[in-house]
Amino acid sequence: MPANQNLFVALRAAFPADLDATAVESIGADGSTQYYTWADLDKASARIANLLASLQLPMGARVAVQVEKSVEAVALYLATLRAGLVFLPLNTAYRSAEVAYFVRDAEPAVVVCTPAAFGWVSKIAFQAGTQAVYTLSDARSGSLLERAAHHADTHTPAFCGADALAAIVYTSGTTGRSKGAMLTHGNLLANATTLKDYWGWRQDDVLIHALPIFHVHGLFVAIHAALLGASKMLWFARFDPAAVVAALPHATVFMGVPTLYGRMLAEPGLNRAAAAPMRLFISGSAPLLIETFRAWQERTGHTILERYGMSETTMLTSNPYGPDARFGGQSERRGATVGFPLPGVDLRVADAQDQSLRAGEVGGIQVRGASVFGGYWRMPEKTAQEFTTDGWFRTGDVGRVDARGYVHIVGRSKDLIISGGFNVYPAEVEGVLNELAGVQESAVVGVPHPDFGEVGVAVVVPRAGTRPEPEQLLAALKAQLANYKIPKHCVLVPELPRNTMGKVQKNRLREAVSGLFVSAEARS
Ligand code: AMP
Repeated sequence: MPANQNLFVALRAAFPADLDATAVESIGADGSTQYYTWADLDKASARIANLLASLQLPMGARVAVQVEKSVEAVALYLATLRAGLVFLPLNTAYRSAEVAYFVRDAEPAVVVCTPAAFGWVSKIAFQAGTQAVYTLSDARSGSLLERAAHHADTHTPAFCGADALAAIVYTSGTTGRSKGAMLTHGNLLANATTLKDYWGWRQDDVLIHALPIFHVHGLFVAIHAALLGASKMLWFARFDPAAVVAALPHATVFMGVPTLYGRMLAEPGLNRAAAAPMRLFISGSAPLLIETFRAWQERTGHTILERYGMSETTMLTSNPYGPDARFGGQSERRGATVGFPLPGVDLRVADAQDQSLRAGEVGGIQVRGASVFGGYWRMPEKTAQEFTTDGWFRTGDVGRVDARGYVHIVGRSKDLIISGGFNVYPAEVEGVLNELAGVQESAVVGVPHPDFGEVGVAVVVPRAGTRPEPEQLLAALKAQLANYKIPKHCVLVPELPRNTMGKVQKNRLREAVSGLFVSAEARS
């Protein structure tokens, strides 16, 4: 009989011997604390798994979840794995038209939503043929827990092969239709094990969990690593920079998106003494400004470890935690790079014909490995387009690998600006702009132009208390970059629009400035 590859089996096997030890310390907005033992996680997920099993759903049925962050929502995730069903997390910010799209596309058998949203969500769900709609609040109430309370607190995990579907994660869809990335138990376990080993996860670690759990970063990267490490989590339902800084002396690992690091730097309590017990700060999901990287080093004495991944692949690269034997024992965490391909991940930079480029050359980043997904939910053609004939996944990110083996992300291929026939990578221009006096951060987007086809427009956030002259910024760029890369216009804005994972919403910026050179009528 082959071994059960259900991810929950591996996570449960890593629980510490003392199941009465604290697994999660959940800190409320009012400072109140709720303690959950390892036994609590086990029993709560068993009860929900038994409830799900009582619905007699076929293997692979989807459980769509749009709830506020809570430890009970983690129990629901673990229960879904246990029951051999497919977890489908939905961003709490999605409104009815968006939820309707996901529900119609994924046809979940079960939907779990907040009590406040039950009216409109249940209408959408039942119209789409959903069998059961439960509610779950962030205050440990709702019909899911009421029903689950009638079920036994032991449960034998459903048998799953490594190829069995564990989750469908819809891409954040900052452009185009959101696609459901299908991740298997094997994909998730491979990545979780790699991260646990590469980042040296230990039982005495304490993770500060302050990320949303509808996204791979907070759901898979953070939770799997902590569970596999049998490490405690300090759980924050919402990110509050002061509360997180106050928690640093009681923790060892923090994971954040760059925006969180920026906000923590604004806290006067952030200093070397507060961060002394910490062993690791990890950043990902969006590029970390070199300035934030340096400021963090100066204030805390810690070097942030930047890593790179995506919903379709989970984590792909990481700066080294310790010496990496595969790369000549290098151990330097370098700012503005995303480090080396993780063990088990093959990464290449390729040209438009899918041919590997040499070190230093810029091209499309392609990957393969055990953590890379099999395809998009019900989109065989899109899936076929995104994989090369020899099995590499086209990430859509543009980058290069330097002579030392570090991967640099230069931008997204769809952000590429083709100006007068020349390729302009916005991230390169932004990198130079960000170093200029008076510039806090920037985004460069392409807009239609009658002569060049497309040109760059720089959107700049000035540093507090300064007001740089846009014309002078462009002139300063000219001293450092080839002329065709220079944006044709520069505007100042108080802040850049970002989604919850800290990614700049370039589509919104592009819409705002698209008529600068060509009118809407001329473009249609
Ligand atoms: P998502 O699927 O929402 O996690 O988005 C994945 C995308 O986020 C990647 O394809 C990259 O474009 C971007 N990303 C993730 N981590 C980083 C990073 N460390 N630096 C730059 N971009 C990143």
